[in-house]
Amino acid sequence: MPVCEGCGTRTDDAHVQRRARRLELAAKYRPASVRVLFLDGAPPARPEDYFYAATADRSIRSLSARMYFDELVKCMGTGLPPNPDEESALAEFQKRQFFLAYAIECPFEEQADPQGALRRFAPNAMKRAQSDYAPSYVVPLSSSTTDLIRLFGLVGWGDRLILNSGGPFVDPYLGDPTKQATFGTGYGERIKKLLAGLP
Ligand SMILES: [Zn+2]
Repeated sequence: MPVCEGCGTRTDDAHVQRRARRLELAAKYRPASVRVLFLDGAPPARPEDYFYAATADRSIRSLSARMYFDELVKCMGTGLPPNPDEESALAEFQKRQFFLAYAIECPFEEQADPQGALRRFAPNAMKRAQSDYAPSYVVPLSSSTTDLIRLFGLVGWGDRLILNSGGPFVDPYLGDPTKQATFGTGYGERIKKLLAGLP
């Protein structure tokens, strides 16, 4: 059985192919130089839900994946027509030098020990962020990136972090538009404002 380079799991060829497909899709929209790196813990389990898997038929995405996509689009602010198609939204995301990457490159659902995988891959994730992406700013998303925030502080990258009260941006109501609106948990607009104030 092959060992996946993206998550260190001893796994099957299908897993390795799914990762290769995700990397291929992300590469298509990767800016030449990254200004803002959005860093999440791991990609979603369903290939259709992957951020960079642009689709003309949004119904194939789960509701939470659609909401996640839309929150990241909101971070860009104006410049897009209302309800742009995903392809144009991702092209604009790239034009703004925004890029979304993950601490581990495979879904938590495909890990025998997700917490262990995160810990093992933290140094790797830091190295990728520092040398491969070298962004001006890092926006950590979801609670699984909490430990990485500490590590970024240790390597002197604290001032590049865009944080939500000292932590990552977490929306517990992705997938529940009513609750998201009621409790105001959407982070797109907040991130947009923070980014707008930066040099
Ligand atoms: Zn993997």
